[in-house]
Amino acid sequence: MATGWESLLRDEQQLEELARQAVDRALAEGVLLRTSQEPSSSDVVSYAPFTLFPSLVPSALLEQAYAVQMDFNMLVDAVSQDAAFLEQTLSSTIKRDNFTARLFDIHKQVLKEGIAQTVFLGLNRSDYMFQRNADGSAALKQIEINTISASFGGLASRTPAVHRHVLNVLSKTQEAAKILSNNPSKGLALGITRAWELYGSANALVLLIAQEKERNIFDQRAIENELLARNIHVIRRRFEDVSEKASLDQDRRLFMDGQEVAVVYFRDGYMPSQYSPQNWEARLLLERSRAVKCPDIATQLAGTKKVQQELSRMGVLEMLLPGQPETVARLHATFAGLYSLDMGEEGDQAIAEALAAPSQFVLKPQREGGGNNLYGEEMVQALERLKDSEERASYILMEKIEPEPFGNCLLRPGSPVRVVQCISELGIFGVYVRQGKTLVMNKHVGHLLRTKAIEHADGGVAAGVAVLDNPYPV
Ligand code: ADP
Ligand code: MG
Repeated sequence: MATGWESLLRDEQQLEELARQAVDRALAEGVLLRTSQEPSSSDVVSYAPFTLFPSLVPSALLEQAYAVQMDFNMLVDAVSQDAAFLEQTLSSTIKRDNFTARLFDIHKQVLKEGIAQTVFLGLNRSDYMFQRNADGSAALKQIEINTISASFGGLASRTPAVHRHVLNVLSKTQEAAKILSNNPSKGLALGITRAWELYGSANALVLLIAQEKERNIFDQRAIENELLARNIHVIRRRFEDVSEKASLDQDRRLFMDGQEVAVVYFRDGYMPSQYSPQNWEARLLLERSRAVKCPDIATQLAGTKKVQQELSRMGVLEMLLPGQPETVARLHATFAGLYSLDMGEEGDQAIAEALAAPSQFVLKPQREGGGNNLYGEEMVQALERLKDSEERASYILMEKIEPEPFGNCLLRPGSPVRVVQCISELGIFGVYVRQGKTLVMNKHVGHLLRTKAIEHADGGVAAGVAVLDNPYPV
């Protein structure tokens, strides 16, 4: 895929002037992060890293990603309701992966007690890369789906203005007009609003489970602001606060600091390091409560890499979404090669193939947040070590997607402006609300494009590798 901005990328002086303009506009628009030095304070902030130019994305692939989002919402929701499928799929993994096992324990516990709430809220983001085909065309391939704490919907609502600004400075007004408007924060807030309404208590709040050190607070504030504009109040609390001050009444209604909670929105709780024993207790309390959880523990489990891998197995989508062959076909078309590493012949064969062609595979543990996957020589060493151990079942293997690189400038505080070879990852935000057996909301609510230099195999914006971007449809 050509860059589209080749001649602009050759003029170094102009790039520097454009970058200054772009950075000032980003700051003015609120494309912000707290600094790594002061992650708990907003006294000093900087811009969230972003590309100088929007990156070219084939319109057909954008449309395909949008079109399949409601299918993914339905699929995640179906998996979350199928306790037998979750148990069977995760059985080998939870023997070896402590974190997934802890989550699964809570899931079993709440099922046993009986789930107190009939309303379910899903806010997810399905991520894709553009696989380069032999004939030069590109195909949409899913990297993963994030069912907990899917971020950057807030900042992604503000970046279109920055890229329009850059193109307008260049008098490219027609090009500027092609940058899609995007407002995931509003759509995500509408999902929370719907769940809040169905909870049905005018004075109840939204409880946002936040981290102590949160550089990405402005992303979260964008959603909070949308809720407040609808007269829904949000309180931010840590798991520690929950364990100290939250309680359930005899109907399992959740109270935090004496105020009733309608919806719990997790922006924490997706990594092992985020859980002390006390935090696990807090998570259990929240799951047991009558508040609507976003996500509930089963939906978090539905977003594990092991579930993703099992969904690609022949016949599984058909079993989960019976009588919906078109939905199944749309979903399948986005799946890359995914391979189980459970003990047995199938896993042995996958390992042999990955060892024979390491550059074509990625080894993934059951982790979120970037920087956990293994590639190349590191993957080979891990596979050699794991090969004969049951520990391998806590990983999956995935086909490595190879997009066509292109040039762009990645703007970061303190870094020089220079052109580097990049690849992009497109995310589509999905929102759904289910009440009992009925989906009362199922939508896509916007997109996120993240771009990184090709030398980094792994890692998102929060991990300091990728930067925010906008698709320039072609
Ligand atoms: P996480 O839950 O940590 O975000 P991901 O599965 O999204 O895990 O992987 C992290 C990053 O690794 C992705 O953003 C992408 O850059 C890269 N990556 C993951 N899977 C693949 C793949 N199959 N092919 C190429 N790159 C991948
Ligand atoms: Mg990811």
